[in-house]
Amino acid sequence: MMTDLYGLARAELGATLSRAGFADVHAGRVWGYLYRGFERDFGAMRELPPRLIDWLRENATLCELGVARETAADDGLTTKSLLALSDGREIEAVRMQIGERTTACLSSQVGCALGCVFCATGQMGFERNLTAGEIVAQALHVARAARANGSRLRNVVVMGMGEPLLNYDAVMTALDVLRDPAGLAIGFKQITVSTVGVAPGIVRMADEGRPYSLAVSLHAADQTERAALLPVARTWPLDVLLDACRYYAAKTGRRIFFEWTVIAGRNDALEQADELATLLAGLPAHVNLIPLNATTGFDGAAGEAAALDAFQARLRAHGLPATVRRTRGEQIAAACGQLAV
Ligand code: SAH
Ligand code: SF4
Repeated sequence: MMTDLYGLARAELGATLSRAGFADVHAGRVWGYLYRGFERDFGAMRELPPRLIDWLRENATLCELGVARETAADDGLTTKSLLALSDGREIEAVRMQIGERTTACLSSQVGCALGCVFCATGQMGFERNLTAGEIVAQALHVARAARANGSRLRNVVVMGMGEPLLNYDAVMTALDVLRDPAGLAIGFKQITVSTVGVAPGIVRMADEGRPYSLAVSLHAADQTERAALLPVARTWPLDVLLDACRYYAAKTGRRIFFEWTVIAGRNDALEQADELATLLAGLPAHVNLIPLNATTGFDGAAGEAAALDAFQARLRAHGLPATVRRTRGEQIAAACGQLAV
């Protein structure tokens, strides 16, 4: 069987090559070629013994994502790539460049089963989980483009298509690869895992000692209203979710980001800001306000900037840090919740 090397964490690559009779120093060289050189051609890995190159050709692959379409916005600093998987399915990855720092927004699943009413990915339904190699390959696609633009992949957000904590093992293996200091070396803090609120996954990350930046998509501070927007909220209600968040914050020492997609007339009233502040009291929290991006399947609007600013000011008045995330890439539907094939 051929092994996709992108799907192996550093220790797993070492073990795989060791079983084939190669010393760990060679695994280290392969790793450098893959994640420092972005090399895809085993034959070009000249520092490897010829015997290892032959072994790789016979036993290993490197997940290949075809570029089906690439669209640019913000003067080329944001690009959305529609990437083809080996089974013909397609996913999206987004590159956002700010000078020497580039952020990659990665998908974790093809589609999503959770059906949040305003999300384009949810509107398309669930097709399948991505493999760890397919997630790493997205990051490499962005890292290569960054390098070609004189920038470097420094931040990763798992906020593309899908719910990362429902594809836990593949996502965590992929993030282990991206963190490895001898490779892309992206730190825990520079990697954000965004979840709709899969409480058991949050607890598991804490127990496994994975202090990633955690973003929890909240959108409502009231259980009934939240369940109307995010059907999955019935499975993990607000009190269960908040308990998991407190546990994560205590175990990891990290502040938690709460995402609030602002929908005019639905969750932008000042009383709702008060409710949110009460809900998060005592938690090291930061609220990200995201104006709703248009999707065809949901009839709602982002509302006026003034309402957003007032909501933000109200949170701050409660001592709750809050920022408004102005949209990048909306013209090319690369903004939050607009990813659908
Ligand atoms: N499944 C994960 C990660 C992918 S969605 C999650 O739900 O968190 C990434 C973010 O985009 C989430 O915060 C989600 O609520 C938000 N989002 C979805 N649809 C949106 C839309 N139409 N406008 C703005 N944000 C949206
Ligand atoms: Fe899935 Fe996240 Fe979209 Fe909800 S917002 S449908 S969890 S991708």
